[in-house]
Amino acid sequence: MEDKITPGTKAIIGVDYAGQPCDWNALREIANRHNLHLVDDGCHALGAEYKGKKVGTLADMTVFSFHPVKHITTGEGGMVVTDDEGYAERMRIFRTHGITRDPSKFANQPSAISHQPIYPLFYYEMADLGYNYRITDFQCALGVSQLQKLPEFLRRRRNIAALYDEAFAGLSGITTLAVRKDSLHAYHLYVIRNDSNISGIDRTTLFTKLREKGIGVNVHYIPVHLHPFYREKFHTGPGLCPVAEADYEQIISIPMFSGMKDSYVEQVVTCLKEATNQLN
Ligand SMILES: *Cc1c(COP(=O)(O)O)cnc(C)c1O
Repeated sequence: MEDKITPGTKAIIGVDYAGQPCDWNALREIANRHNLHLVDDGCHALGAEYKGKKVGTLADMTVFSFHPVKHITTGEGGMVVTDDEGYAERMRIFRTHGITRDPSKFANQPSAISHQPIYPLFYYEMADLGYNYRITDFQCALGVSQLQKLPEFLRRRRNIAALYDEAFAGLSGITTLAVRKDSLHAYHLYVIRNDSNISGIDRTTLFTKLREKGIGVNVHYIPVHLHPFYREKFHTGPGLCPVAEADYEQIISIPMFSGMKDSYVEQVVTCLKEATNQLN
């Protein structure tokens, strides 16, 4: 990462992929050394921890999504958390059309907008270019009730992960992603790797077989630099990120959601064994 930093670099964004926090101490060190903002995309990692510290406290700001597939939902929407007053203020203004009503933030003198020596009561300023990024109160009501269920949702996800870990431990050609000892995983995703040289089946065929059995598998993600937008606009393409490209050929996300029954977990395991000829 450090090699890629240029004078044009403004921020480092780390994604806590699948629900396991990045190595935030290492990222913090690099960000400090180059005076960059440090942003955590914690959308997979609500409730995860790194060295005993919760995701949301590790970067300058952390973003969470409340899309229906995430740990908790508000239908759509999300939140950004920060412990920095400056970032908070900036984001509040950005969220509301760039408007401030705080007199201590006004740039105009009262004389610039009125004949009175004080600001009129109705006065506000558009201080910056902003958008309407407000979440609705209805959505927040759902979010507040969802938040109470988060501990139970996390417990169940971790429990399902433990069942999968145990079931896949002895399989050949199928490996699970490593979890560092100093992290507490939130398991938005449970990703397996298929090494076709060992399992004898390529990822896409395995994926198709699982779907045919009714198993809700997915692939997270197609590397962004292979999408047309980046290819056309930034001239990216195969070879730019060889590790991501090689991983992409191997990965499958298998079902993981808090309402998942043990019987479905067993069915997923059985179908995977069957598809790789390891059902005995
Ligand atoms: C879901 C998700 C997003 C996008 O969230 P939205 O609520 O759709 O804006 C971004 N990053 C990651 C890692 C996600 O999982």
